[in-house]
Amino acid sequence: MKLVIKFGGTSISSAKDIKSVAKYLQSLSKKNQIIVVCSAISGITDDLLEISNFIKKGNKENANRIVTKIIKKHKQLAKESGLKSHSHRKLLEGLDTHISEFEELIHGIILLEEVTPRSLDYLISFGEKLSINLISYALLDLGSKSIPLTGKEVGIVTDSNFGEARPLMDTTRIRVSKTIDSLLNKKIIPVIGGFAGADQHGHITTFGRGGSDYTATTIASCIKADEIWLMSDVDGLMTADPKIIKNAKVLKEVSYVEAIEMALFGAKQIHPRTFEPLLSKKIPMRIRNTFNIKNPGTLVTASPDAATKKTVKCVSAIPHNGLIDVRGGSMVGAPGTAAKIFSTLAKVGVNIMMISQSPSESSISIVLKKTDLDRAVNALEMYLLGKIIKKLEVTTDVSIIALIGSGMRGTVGVASRVFAAIEKKNVNVVMIAQGSSELNIAFIVKDSGCKLAVQALHDEFKLAKIN
Ligand code: ASP
Ligand code: MG
Repeated sequence: MKLVIKFGGTSISSAKDIKSVAKYLQSLSKKNQIIVVCSAISGITDDLLEISNFIKKGNKENANRIVTKIIKKHKQLAKESGLKSHSHRKLLEGLDTHISEFEELIHGIILLEEVTPRSLDYLISFGEKLSINLISYALLDLGSKSIPLTGKEVGIVTDSNFGEARPLMDTTRIRVSKTIDSLLNKKIIPVIGGFAGADQHGHITTFGRGGSDYTATTIASCIKADEIWLMSDVDGLMTADPKIIKNAKVLKEVSYVEAIEMALFGAKQIHPRTFEPLLSKKIPMRIRNTFNIKNPGTLVTASPDAATKKTVKCVSAIPHNGLIDVRGGSMVGAPGTAAKIFSTLAKVGVNIMMISQSPSESSISIVLKKTDLDRAVNALEMYLLGKIIKKLEVTTDVSIIALIGSGMRGTVGVASRVFAAIEKKNVNVVMIAQGSSELNIAFIVKDSGCKLAVQALHDEFKLAKIN
């Protein structure tokens, strides 16, 4: 089969892991046509972002210290990978080309003392530029034919929305399929850097954090792959976070829509746009663990097997959020109130995670990240308090609990089971929201009741026994 296989950073962060990934790929390539997509090795994208922060603050020394650390880390991995002299030399050449470019770029932005969205994307794309060399030359060392390619080189063309770019699919499809088909015909395994592409002027763009998942599905859609596997360090999508619930289980099969909901909440973070390119082509995806290859992982498909359709499949929790209750003033019956509140928050860059409004329109509750709370409250006080808002009430330390499962749609009594189970544990529900898709029910409890609530629901819906 034609398989796109993507490795997250934690899968390729030591020489030992790089070697075993290469061996695994080599054995897979005997029976399949494989296309590899890689993230940067763990922590490198964070380091690159830190460099840009230091440069913005004019702290050249610290910026250069991290540059040196990144270069050293990759050279060290190259050395420890223990490749034969020919492939080792080729690997060093590959790394050096990108390292020189990286150093030149750093020199340039330090001189300018300015990091624009465009130069930032160029800078943070280097993690993947380096990691692909480590994997590709490890494959070469084992006797496979392989080539490292950046997103730009493989033909991913995007809009110029730096930091949150989207591929221009018509052009991308033609270019990517042409590049990859010709490599596959020559039995060459492409190792492609995730996360980045280039706009029509050739400037590097990135897809937002975690964007290598999105690269993998974009490529899979372009070449009509038979399957796509996302390899990370968890066994798949689970019924709950195993750090909270000891008997949480891996889900065998979920639908795209369920996976989209789970990706927002779950222990396995997936880039939010990952599933977009798969929807029309209906390419099945597996979410698997690099360190537990025997486990088949979770299969994500357009139409899951009837046997796996359950009312509730997963209970997720996001602890440590803030809640703002906005009340009074002239909110009732005044069109545009919600718009004013939300645009005020948007102006200061606050992302809203959950909203509910009572039908009396006298209050709106908003859940957001705790780190955004101060900024949000300041903005609302400054621009709206005393005008359309009379009172702001803030609760810190709240958890969002969400139940996900497409079987909830049209099933009577799910909500009553949910809240009865929570009541039995004496946990107070602060706010509730259910979208009309009925794919999930989400509610808010204080952080102190989070674990109890998740466990109660995991038990109520017998998720430890899910098949
Ligand atoms: N390296 C990028 C990040 O850390 C992209 C990815 O890992 O998918 O966000
Ligand atoms: Mg990553």
